[in-house]
Amino acid sequence: MELREAVFKGLPEDNGLYMPTQFPQLDPAWIAQIETHSFEEIAYEVCRRLFQGYLPESDLRVLIERAINFPAPVVALDEEVHILELFHGPSLAFKDFGARFMAQLMSYFNQEESDELVILVATSGDTGGAVAAGFLNTPGIQVVILYPSGKVSPLQEKQLTALGGNITALEIDGTFDDCQALVKSAFLDSELRQQIRLSSANSINIARLVPQSFYYFEAYKQVVKKDMPVVFIVPSGNFGNLTAGLFAQRLGLPIHHFIAATNINDVVPSYLETGVFTPRPSVATISNAMDVGNPSNFVRMLDLYGSTWNNLKTNISGYRYTDDQTRSGIKTVFDRYQYTIDPHGALGFLAYEAYRQENPGTIGIILETAHPAKFSEEVSKVTQKEVDIPERLAKLANAPKVATPMGIEFSPFRNWLLEKYT
Ligand SMILES: *Cc1c(COP(=O)(O)O)cnc(C)c1O
Repeated sequence: MELREAVFKGLPEDNGLYMPTQFPQLDPAWIAQIETHSFEEIAYEVCRRLFQGYLPESDLRVLIERAINFPAPVVALDEEVHILELFHGPSLAFKDFGARFMAQLMSYFNQEESDELVILVATSGDTGGAVAAGFLNTPGIQVVILYPSGKVSPLQEKQLTALGGNITALEIDGTFDDCQALVKSAFLDSELRQQIRLSSANSINIARLVPQSFYYFEAYKQVVKKDMPVVFIVPSGNFGNLTAGLFAQRLGLPIHHFIAATNINDVVPSYLETGVFTPRPSVATISNAMDVGNPSNFVRMLDLYGSTWNNLKTNISGYRYTDDQTRSGIKTVFDRYQYTIDPHGALGFLAYEAYRQENPGTIGIILETAHPAKFSEEVSKVTQKEVDIPERLAKLANAPKVATPMGIEFSPFRNWLLEKYT
């Protein structure tokens, strides 16, 4: 079964990426009535198209019910500027949608297996938190998170180490690259893999991408009454979120235009301007979840446009901003609208401000990809006001950290895995 294989493998053997083979159009009558559907129903309808034939529809319903169980509200700041809040999940970032959905799908396919599945995740901070929360208490699945000691924020560390249950944290005395190397060695160890069923929760897994298209429909539903062309502004790093928007459009959602907003890691905006794609090492910024120098979903975007620059740039505009501009964006949003936006969302706001000067009369929906509390230090410096920490995160901050310290040599890690999971 192909979907099953794509989900467990994450990456195909030919060095490419998995893509849906077709995008069956949603019924225009269904879209015209979108206001009558709940988020859950929307997610189900979209997913049913993409996963046609891969799993029984009644099973898909249950899966969606479990994964998509928090809202994605649109907040109107004025007639044109809208914020799509994607931070109402457990780890306060949009990655919760993908992580929760992938956890459910893996657990579903794993039911047919008698052995437990062990997911290995190396994280530099953010992704690990979403994956850990997404897989928490998923039957048949254990998660091992490897993170670099002293190199994640205290709150991020709690998100990795304080959940308990089937989530186990290894505090590696090394860098993020060392964590990745350990995971890679484990995957290459065929003897180990005969004894433990291993999988990854990589961000380019198709199971993380598909659920991200659901909230484009959900957002559209909330502004459709205003009857103006809808533009989505997507703060982007690895470009999974924007690619999921392109999926939504391909399925028939009437999206007028996309805006890719980046920090100075701007290889995609540069490509849109010049037609030349030049990956380069990433540079650290205050919107650090978007510090990506070689976005892996770029090939998916190209594929959707028949690899034609002209088609791509007609549908997507790119804007990039510095950290100082990002701070001024946070300040403008706070002063003008009394709304606290995080550094990633602030890039989206700046990009839409620039776009709407030239193109007035649209509904701009800015994807707010994280809760400002996740970046409270930067944000409160600008707004001169404490950022309220949502209760689910505050609770975690007080929970005890549980992590097993580990060096960067492979054999102790290997032994630990064997001892724990065989
Ligand atoms: C991961 C992340 C992004 C970037 O998303 P991509 O899909 O990689 O483009 C933006 N903002 C936040 C807060 C993130 O965690």
